[in-house]
Amino acid sequence: MKHEHTELCAQLQSELPDYLDGEARAEICRAIETHLADCDDCRVVVDTLKKTITLYRNAPCEDVPQDVHARLVRVLSLVSTNDERINE
Ligand SMILES: [Zn+2]
Repeated sequence: MKHEHTELCAQLQSELPDYLDGEARAEICRAIETHLADCDDCRVVVDTLKKTITLYRNAPCEDVPQDVHARLVRVLSLVSTNDERINE
């Protein structure tokens, strides 16, 4: 059960950059929101990403969107690496 949950987390977390950009499909948005309601781990990830995005949006010079996306992906992979270590 825990393993299944972890897999769902990884799957949904990979959609988060699109979700936070408002580019994810409606069904994915709903799946993420439902999951966030009972998963603290994913809520932390979303909070971190939102803060990162806010920092970039408020920055005086706008960065290249691709760069922001690459950084988000890096944040996500850092977080999931930590998760795997905790679960071991
Ligand atoms: Zn989760």
